[in-house]
Amino acid sequence: MLNKKVNSFQQVGRNLIIPGGTRIIDATGKLVMPGGIDPHTHLELEMMGAKTADDFYKGTKAAVAGGTTTIIDFVLPNKGQSLLEAYSNWRQKADNKVCCDYALHVGVTWWSPSVKKEMEQLVAEHGVNSFKMFMAYKDAWMLEDYDLMVAMETCAELRALAQVHAENGNIIARNTEKLLEAGVTGPEGHQLSRDEEVEAEAVNRACVIANQANSPLYIVHMMSKSAVKALRIARTRQRPPVYGETLAATVGTDGTHYKNACFRHAAAHVLSPPLRPDPSTPEAIVQALADDDLQLIGSDNCTFNEKEKELGKGNFTKIPNGVNGVEDRMAILWQKAVNTGIMDPCRFVAVTSTTAARIFNLWPQKGRIAVNSDADVVVWDPRLERTISAATHHHAVDFNIFEGQHVVGSPQYVIVNGRVCLDDGNLRVVEGEIVNNSNWGMGETFSFMILVQSLLYQVSSKTFGTRLWPQELRICEYVRCV
Ligand SMILES: [Zn+2]
Repeated sequence: MLNKKVNSFQQVGRNLIIPGGTRIIDATGKLVMPGGIDPHTHLELEMMGAKTADDFYKGTKAAVAGGTTTIIDFVLPNKGQSLLEAYSNWRQKADNKVCCDYALHVGVTWWSPSVKKEMEQLVAEHGVNSFKMFMAYKDAWMLEDYDLMVAMETCAELRALAQVHAENGNIIARNTEKLLEAGVTGPEGHQLSRDEEVEAEAVNRACVIANQANSPLYIVHMMSKSAVKALRIARTRQRPPVYGETLAATVGTDGTHYKNACFRHAAAHVLSPPLRPDPSTPEAIVQALADDDLQLIGSDNCTFNEKEKELGKGNFTKIPNGVNGVEDRMAILWQKAVNTGIMDPCRFVAVTSTTAARIFNLWPQKGRIAVNSDADVVVWDPRLERTISAATHHHAVDFNIFEGQHVVGSPQYVIVNGRVCLDDGNLRVVEGEIVNNSNWGMGETFSFMILVQSLLYQVSSKTFGTRLWPQELRICEYVRCV
């Protein structure tokens, strides 16, 4: 049972006393899960001369429609920009637009002693507990190994989690020069400039540097079998924990699209690291998620309309990087992993919600259904069928990389902080917050109960081994949408 005032679970159990005026949602035959957590989004981001289509309202709206009730976005300072200033810019962009809770990672895109001071401040004063460093995007966000190691040491000192984008930026820069000289200018050049071993090398190097810095490590968007192999070896070898995240895009589609003759189609699939042309990649990645060789799945939602993608017509290096995924992440994984029998529903909850809550120390507020946890719930209908399309999705972008895919299993109800935001398939969200309850048009009390006659799907603490970050990781603060 949920209560509007505190937006947390008041009671969980059997034979509860139901107060008068309580709405009852019958979840018979459905699965009741903690709301999804997408640990990787880029909403309202300006990069490569373009701005993403999904802002903090449209992006979180799409998230909620798909069963995700918390996102973690990335503050990305420009080279030389104050991290604190960038952080406050992000807060200004997001605070009045989000319609679900969100938290922020902060990018360490350049290095100096002042950056270290600002990291300390972000941790102490703003509850930031994760920082992302780039091993790619040479001459923009990339850190060389020395700076990367010092940044990781700083993270360890601050009890914050170091994250990396693992690709060898120097090799990519050289390959790009060679490809352009040879006249390869189309989107296919993107993958050719950075194949699997360019990613796997950086994964291994990031793990070694983290080990030397005695820092736990989180590798974002792992895209290839080679990279996963490098991670698996590192995880058995080193003492501080290492986590690997993959993406909805990686399990839901592949790199054969870069050869599509239509520029728009091929460019729409450009992200870094790229999707892999090896068609066995998606299933292998799902298997790795099931086997705990990868720990969680995000979206890296970073959507650009056709007009923006066209900036790279005639030069693939100018195609703004990014794809959709925040809406379809859970349905795509359900389809590819649970419906195929590779993963059970408990592991699905772990990789889409609970593990992110644990790793980023949002636990126990997020990622579980229990008294005093935030009332973020998904009632998942494993029989609900739909076909994914840009014509019907909730994103602001004009393309969907999962276009035409038929999925069985989607949310029927999504409850965000105790509010029914997806109500039997009808999306009811308001930009920023419910300023005025009458906007809500629900005409009912806000306490309600979900009747569960099937199992409650969530992950018990026992599922987690000893490789989670030690308890003293700083609490990640997140911003409530109400
Ligand atoms: Zn990203």
